[in-house]
Amino acid sequence: MPHTVKNILNKQPLTRHDLVTLLSSDGEYSKLLFDRAAEVKRKHAGNKVYYRGLIEYSNLCGKNCLYCGIRSGNKKARRYELTEEEVLEAARYAWEARYGSVVIQAGERSGKDHVHRIERLIKQIKQLSNGGLGITLSLGEQSEDTYHRWFEAGAHRYLLRIEVSNPGLYYKYHPDNKTHDYQARLHALLLLRKIGYQVGSGVMIGLPFQTVQDLADDLLFFRDHDIDMVGMGPYIEHEETPMIKHKSQLLPKKERLCLTLKMVAALRILMKDINIAATTAMQAIDPQGREKSIRAGANIIMPNLTPSRYREDYMLYEDKPCTDEDAEECQRCLEARIHMAGGEIGYGEWGDSKHYHKRKR
Ligand code: SAH
Ligand code: SF4
Repeated sequence: MPHTVKNILNKQPLTRHDLVTLLSSDGEYSKLLFDRAAEVKRKHAGNKVYYRGLIEYSNLCGKNCLYCGIRSGNKKARRYELTEEEVLEAARYAWEARYGSVVIQAGERSGKDHVHRIERLIKQIKQLSNGGLGITLSLGEQSEDTYHRWFEAGAHRYLLRIEVSNPGLYYKYHPDNKTHDYQARLHALLLLRKIGYQVGSGVMIGLPFQTVQDLADDLLFFRDHDIDMVGMGPYIEHEETPMIKHKSQLLPKKERLCLTLKMVAALRILMKDINIAATTAMQAIDPQGREKSIRAGANIIMPNLTPSRYREDYMLYEDKPCTDEDAEECQRCLEARIHMAGGEIGYGEWGDSKHYHKRKR
C-alpha cells in the first residue's frame, strides 16, 4: 500500500483504480494523500479561502428526495420563505463584512411568482452592492428560460449537485420518476454551462448502498463534465425521511467525514484549479470539519447568514450546526479557525474558479 499510494500520487492521469486506492487509504497513507493535496492547492488554487454568505431563502420544495428533511413529503417540517427585506439585510451584512459573494439556496420551485421574486432579489442585491457582490444560486432544476433570466439579472454561478453520478443509485434515492429524472438533472448542468454560469455540482458521501467505486466514479464525473466548483458532504440521516430505515447500514459518522476528506483531497489532485467547498455537513459531524476540509484541499466556506429564527426549519439533516447562533457570532470564531488551518481569507474578492477562467479563454 505505501508504495502504491506514493506511486499514484506521482502519476498522471489517475485511473478509477487509482482513485479507489486513494479513497481506501488510511493512517500514514491517507496523510500522504492530504499532504499532496495541500501542495497541489497552494500551487494551483492559491492559499486563499473565499467566503460565500449562505442565505437559506425557503424550505418550500416540490421534490421528494428520500434523504432530505425538507422534502415535500415531510409534513412535520414548518415551511417558511424569507421576506425580500430579510434577504436584502443578509446580503447587506455580507457586503459590509466584505464577503465576496452570497449564495441563495432553497427547495426547488418553479412557479412564476417564485421565478420573478428571485429575479428581483438578484437585481436588488446587485444594486445594494454597486455590482460588487457575486451571486451564486442553488435553487434546483429550472427551465432554460428561468436560468437565463436569473443569469441576465446578475447571478453568475449555480450549484446543482448530481447527488450521485450512478443513475441506478440515483433512482434508488429518487424513485418517483414524475418529479425526478437523472437525465433531466444532467441536462440542467449542460444548460447552465451553455448560458455562461460557473457551474458547480457535488455528491453526498456515505449513502446506503454506495461503494468506494461509486465515489471514484463521482470524481471522474466531475472531471469528465469539466465542472468548475464542487460541494461534497457526508450524507447525514434525518428521522423524518424514508431513508432512515437504512440507518443500520451506514458507516459511523466519523468515518463518513474521513471518507469525505479523502474525496476532497483526491479531487484536488484530480482537478487542480477548481473551487472546492468545505461544506456545512462536515461541520455537523465535527465542529472542526470545515477546517479539516480546508487542510485537505478545499478553498471555499459558506458562513450561514440566514436569520436565526428560520435556521431550525432549514433542517436538511439532523445536527445541522449554527442553528442558534447569529451571523456575527459564527463569523468571529471562523476567521481564527481558518488561519489555524493555514488559510488566508480573500476578503472582498469574488474568488471565481480559476478553472472557469481557463476554460473560457
Ligand atoms: N433544492 C436544491 C438546493 C437545496 S438542497 C437542490 O436539491 O439542488 C442542497 C443539498 O443538500 C442537496 O443538493 C443535497 O446534496 C444536500 N442534502 C439534502 N439532504 C441531505 C442529507 N440528509 N445529508 C446531507 N446532505 C443533504
Ligand atoms: Fe428539495 Fe433539494 Fe431537499 Fe431534494 S435535496 S427535497 S430538491 S431541498
